[in-house]
Amino acid sequence: MSTRIDGKVISSQVLEEVKKDAAEFYQQFGIKPGLAVVLVGEDPASQVYVRNKTARATESGLNSIEYRLPEDTSEQTLNLLIEKLNNAPDVHGILVQLPLPDHLDEEKLIAAIAPEKDVDGFHPVNVGALSLGKKSLVPCTPQGCMIMLEKTLGDLSGKHAVVVGRSNIVGKPMASLLLKANCTVTVIHSRTTNPKQLSQQADILVAAVGSPEMIGKDWVKPGCTVIDVGINVIEREGKRKLVGDVNYAEVEPLVNAITPVPGGVGPMTIACLMRNTLIAARQQH
Ligand code: NAD
Repeated sequence: MSTRIDGKVISSQVLEEVKKDAAEFYQQFGIKPGLAVVLVGEDPASQVYVRNKTARATESGLNSIEYRLPEDTSEQTLNLLIEKLNNAPDVHGILVQLPLPDHLDEEKLIAAIAPEKDVDGFHPVNVGALSLGKKSLVPCTPQGCMIMLEKTLGDLSGKHAVVVGRSNIVGKPMASLLLKANCTVTVIHSRTTNPKQLSQQADILVAAVGSPEMIGKDWVKPGCTVIDVGINVIEREGKRKLVGDVNYAEVEPLVNAITPVPGGVGPMTIACLMRNTLIAARQQH
């Protein structure tokens, strides 16, 4: 029987820690750790994400400030807001919900956020620090995966970890974190010629592709631990269903432990955003 790595349980433990630390921070400094969430436009999915993030922040004892700007907001207006938040002593973390409307340059905007307030961990300074193995604000989704892996396996040293996907927000930082934890790391991507042969060698398999149930039983070594980052909406038997990148029914009987979708990596991402806000607040005081 494999272990189901429960993201709801582990994320609530992380949030409890954040709540405790936020209360201590308040006692020490007389202010709550502050998270500013900026949303530009009306994208329905982004509106849901922002609502969830601010709700979770408030529950965790953080001061959450939401900025909702219209779709046609200019780069100059957005930059002025970022500059104001960079200089605000009660704002410790700044998150700009992506994607931005087409006329705004995401890269430029991320670079305008003060690195010490970049709670998404996307600023080039934080990306560079992570790849140098130095202390930095780490992207929330791969950080959440690491917490789940360490809770499940303990020390990861010497394990062969295979990451499927090389995006800047998941695959690459995931590979850096696993390397920092002394794993031997292989990254598989869309141009890899022998993906199954490589993934069959994994003690730890992290799937971050965005392709529904692509990873079947012929991708895994029996006894490995699987983290499924994928979130894909499919139609099955006339119903909309959320599935991961891993074929759970096929893979689960073979493995040591596996995250479900939903209820795996998803809840960890928001919890790590709150955790990053607290880390940022502590670094700034
Ligand atoms: P992305 O599209 O930016 O990157 C996908 C990566 O997969 C690319 O690097 C590509 O090279 C690789 N790839 C594509 N086809 C492949 C194939 N056939 N074989 C091997 N590699 C292949 O996606 P992303 O932003 O990294 O997100 C990946 C998935 O994770 C998506 O389903 C996304 O919704 C999900 N996601 C979940 C969370 C969460 O909180 N759970 C957060 C971020 C992303």
